Amino acid sequence: MSETLNRYLARTLAAAEAAGRRRSRRLVEPLVSEAGRIIVDGRPCTAFCSNDYLGLASDARLVEALALAARQYGVGSGASHLVSGHSPEHEALEQALAEFVGREKSIVFSTGYMANLGIACALLGRGDLVVEDRLNHASLIDAGLASGARFARYAHADPDAAEAKLMHYRSRHRVLLTDGVFSMDGDQAPLAALADVCRRRDAWLVVDDAHGFGVLGATGRGTSEACGIAAEDLPVLMATLGKSLGVFGAFVAGPAALIDVLVQRARTYLYTTALPPALARAARTALEIVQAEPWRRSHLASLVRRFRSRAAALGLPLLPSETPIQPIVLGSERCALAASTHLLETGFLVPAIRPPTVPAGASRLRVTLSAIHQVEDVDRLLDALAEWLALWSAASR
Ligand code: PMP
Repeated sequence: MSETLNRYLARTLAAAEAAGRRRSRRLVEPLVSEAGRIIVDGRPCTAFCSNDYLGLASDARLVEALALAARQYGVGSGASHLVSGHSPEHEALEQALAEFVGREKSIVFSTGYMANLGIACALLGRGDLVVEDRLNHASLIDAGLASGARFARYAHADPDAAEAKLMHYRSRHRVLLTDGVFSMDGDQAPLAALADVCRRRDAWLVVDDAHGFGVLGATGRGTSEACGIAAEDLPVLMATLGKSLGVFGAFVAGPAALIDVLVQRARTYLYTTALPPALARAARTALEIVQAEPWRRSHLASLVRRFRSRAAALGLPLLPSETPIQPIVLGSERCALAASTHLLETGFLVPAIRPPTVPAGASRLRVTLSAIHQVEDVDRLLDALAEWLALWSAASR
């Protein structure tokens, strides 16, 4: 006899519990009046876990832009883009984004996850090949798997391994999908070398720059600006609007024909409600601020340098990351959880990242820095980390 739904649900939860991996959600409330401070389950603390890298998510100018546009357009977009959901605000944002990243056109998706699925399903199908970095974000992995193409992963940030995979299988189209900045490690993809591989092997390079856009490069255009890659070598650029821009949504930028094909074929664009126009207005305001206030990037970069040099002096196991994502790899799940709990008790929210998000034995604290932090916030976090290190080494002796 087949299992009942209730039995299946109970068994699934019990298995997660037994493995020590039952996840639950915390109630988190931002203290908008106190930059960077949040209330976690009733306890005020400083957040070192948000992707709001430039500190724009609670910026009064974005709040005002959102409110004004909501008064003009209402709240919901009411339909998908091809039915009646495409507003002048979407158009204006698409144009501004395309200009900023130096591409012919861009298209706004409701989320980054959907943008990645949309790209893969529009460009790939049976008979094609998609190769992906082993540490790509789950949305890129899911996109590759859902595309129906033959799927292969290559060793992390290894252009030779990527080339070997591209050469190994016969296929009609070949697509190489990579994060620009890896979300759990904070390092950058070797984009120049990957672009060379793609040129040699007639593959199309797709980069998800969710964590580089707005942050990296002299003017915040992202990982490709930091690596000096020309637009022709990176035909499909995707990034999200919910991280450095502090809003919600995502976009894909590239040649006009690419955007037109996405309008024809990206099912996650065609069959979903358009992003509310007021959010598009808020994102455009954020993009203006990114361009007008370069101090946000330079302040953030100096916090990253300070964090790294003080953390290294404490002997904390850092990864080679130059970005605001600064993981501290502690190994066991127990150690990472104990560190995260200690930090929360001391007034800092820093999540423990465990398998299956990262490989077994590589559990970590994922510290993310933001322009909203002051030097003193970073110093206080490092003091708390030093205190935890002393307690942990004493307990393990
Ligand atoms: N790509 C990367 C690299 C991400 O880190 C994320 C979200 N954390 C996404 C895509 C998905 O973006 P969204 O949250 O807008 O769905």
